[in-house]
Amino acid sequence: MSNTVLIVEDESIVAQDLQLILEDLGYNVPAIADSGELAIEKAAEIQPNLILMDIRLIGEMDGIAAAQIISEQFDIPVVYMTAHSDEATLARAKLTVPFGYVIKPFEEREIRTTIEIALYKHEMEKKLKENAHWLATILKSIGDGVIATDRMGRITFLNPVAEMLTGWSFDEAVGKDSTKIFKIIHEISRQTVNNPIMEVLKTNKIATLPEQTLLVAKDGREIPIEDSVAPITHHKGTALLKDNKGNIAGTVLVFRDVTQQRLAAKKLYRQAFYDILTNLPNRAWFKERLTDAVERVKRNPDYLFAVMFLDLDRFKIINDSMGHSAGDRLLVEVASRLSQSVRSIDTVTRMGGDEFAILLENLQNPGEAYKIARRIQQQLSEPIAIDEQEVFTNASIGIVLSSMGSERVEELIRDADIAMYRAKAKGKGRYEVFDLAMREQVVAASLLENDLRRAIDRNELSVYYQPIVCLASQKTLGFEALIRWHHPQQGFIPPDNFIPIAEETGLIIAIDEWVLQNACHQLMAWQKQHPNLLPLTVSVNLSSKQFAQPNIVEKIERVLIETDLDAQSLILEITESALIENPQSAAETLAQLKALGVGLSLDDFGTGYSSLSYLHRFPVNTIKIDRSFINRIDTEQDGLEIVRTIVMLGKTLEMNVVAEGLETTEQLALLQQLQCRCGQGYFFSKPLPASQIVVR
Ligand code: C2E
Ligand code: MG
Ligand code: MG
Repeated sequence: MSNTVLIVEDESIVAQDLQLILEDLGYNVPAIADSGELAIEKAAEIQPNLILMDIRLIGEMDGIAAAQIISEQFDIPVVYMTAHSDEATLARAKLTVPFGYVIKPFEEREIRTTIEIALYKHEMEKKLKENAHWLATILKSIGDGVIATDRMGRITFLNPVAEMLTGWSFDEAVGKDSTKIFKIIHEISRQTVNNPIMEVLKTNKIATLPEQTLLVAKDGREIPIEDSVAPITHHKGTALLKDNKGNIAGTVLVFRDVTQQRLAAKKLYRQAFYDILTNLPNRAWFKERLTDAVERVKRNPDYLFAVMFLDLDRFKIINDSMGHSAGDRLLVEVASRLSQSVRSIDTVTRMGGDEFAILLENLQNPGEAYKIARRIQQQLSEPIAIDEQEVFTNASIGIVLSSMGSERVEELIRDADIAMYRAKAKGKGRYEVFDLAMREQVVAASLLENDLRRAIDRNELSVYYQPIVCLASQKTLGFEALIRWHHPQQGFIPPDNFIPIAEETGLIIAIDEWVLQNACHQLMAWQKQHPNLLPLTVSVNLSSKQFAQPNIVEKIERVLIETDLDAQSLILEITESALIENPQSAAETLAQLKALGVGLSLDDFGTGYSSLSYLHRFPVNTIKIDRSFINRIDTEQDGLEIVRTIVMLGKTLEMNVVAEGLETTEQLALLQQLQCRCGQGYFFSKPLPASQIVVR
């Protein structure tokens, strides 16, 4: 399609002549205007590709004035035609940015070239404008911040994201020094980071932002940023802009807000090394620190550190009785008290559950560690308020010193754990320091454990029986079955020495079952031998582990069927701890056992926890008062009072009461006075093998 040209010329002959020439050259000339006003009108009407404009025109408006208005209103290139070119006029014309001049008179070739150049130039300008517009749109819409500077480092451009992040608007920032607008510091050191823009200008090389850079916005906000791939240069970071002659024109920096990524990274880090509940570092972190400490001792043998292992006393009871969220709050409070009790160089960590470990560094002497242990226990013994209730807890603490010579992290933790167990066994709220004797005992216990595994098969176990007597008539009501172990080398080993090992290893399950079967068999035999006596009972101890077995009720039932024993003749002895560990399921198990018809007896009553308060919740029919109280009734007043209270409580709850460990006539007399129904103890008989029992 041919280009359209508007001729603006007030001399009509010249105009018509020109029209012919142009049409000959292949242009379309639909109109001629002879005044500025008409020129504007025609331009609007026909929208020509080019206007040939005479400068001198009839009327008010000359060609320059008309071209001025046209270039403001329409995007049409104007070429001036003029016969005389005085400097002043040319200067005015220049201001309208014309696309060319032709001096009248002109030749055909001359006008053609001028028009073609003007059209081409106009076309190019249009494309450039489009490009610039396109680029600006991209820069405005991308999610990254873009900052451009001139070669002095002064801001020339800021996209909206950069405006938002820096807090500077484009208008405010433009022309200002980039170091003022783009202020960056290092996240950790908080030192000003070298501005990559200046770096680029200095070195002529692409520069990147260092890791952990914070952008300090105008209002002081700190935003973690990273440089990113610049769309203009396809290079990372700050790029150098060069002009078409290869001179440095300025820089472009593309960066982005990485707050979310940094948060995610921090979260991952915390998850790996921190306990979410208490915000304390975790086991993995503890091991790292401990490894460092061990290394330090290797370099400097005088360096002393200690590992403290803590386990909360009574945590399980509180957690079970008050709920998990109460338990959680307790742990959080304990964590904070622990952190307050140690020195700033020490590391308090949560190892899991209610276990904490503390690394005590750079100790002057072991006494310093003990002092911290005492301070911790003092702090923890203060009541903790949870749900408007005061909760009491404390910690059993095991301590191992680096001077014990252990170089292995796992071993140190294990030794501290062993000492902690020792502290717990000795009574709660204490600390124990690991020594070699403890390790020997652990070794001995593990040897014993090996032997115990084979004890049943090798027939080293047997059941002894101790009569339970009616205190009024002194007649035997039944027997408690008590296990005995005759070790081939070590001889007799008391149950108190091996039952805990059996419980820890789970061997107790098999042992208890074995005792249960034997005891039921034996009782069946006695009942058959003495058909005219009141049916005797046998009391069998059940470890809390056994009691917590999901199939415990079926097990008992099966043994009763196998031995053909009447359920009423069997009494199961359980301790308070068996009930407390999981009160809900304990109550269910007890109800099922009761439904079976077996008797339930609460052993070692008085030594446990909140004894009286929960008794009515469980369907037990017998309380066995612990030996430690019976011991004292004839010597200490409070002993007698405690026993009196328990006997009365038993009466109120319609429970049978058995006094354990009855040894003397005085004790018997007192218990009879208190109207305690049953007794068991050396006074009547020691536990004896079945063959030596005389049933009366
Ligand atoms: P327990 O169930 O409280 O048993 C009573 C303990 O007191 C028995 O100790 C018994 O020998 C002792 N005893 C009885 N009368 C007297 C007395 O007048 N004076 C003194 N000083 N002691 C007396 P034993 O047989 O050494 O058993 C200790 C504990 O081991 C038992 O305490 C029980 O908790 C546990 N145990 C024993 N046999 C078994 C068993 O087959 N299974 C389980 N799970 N535990 C058992
Ligand atoms: Mg017992
Ligand atoms: Mg007992």
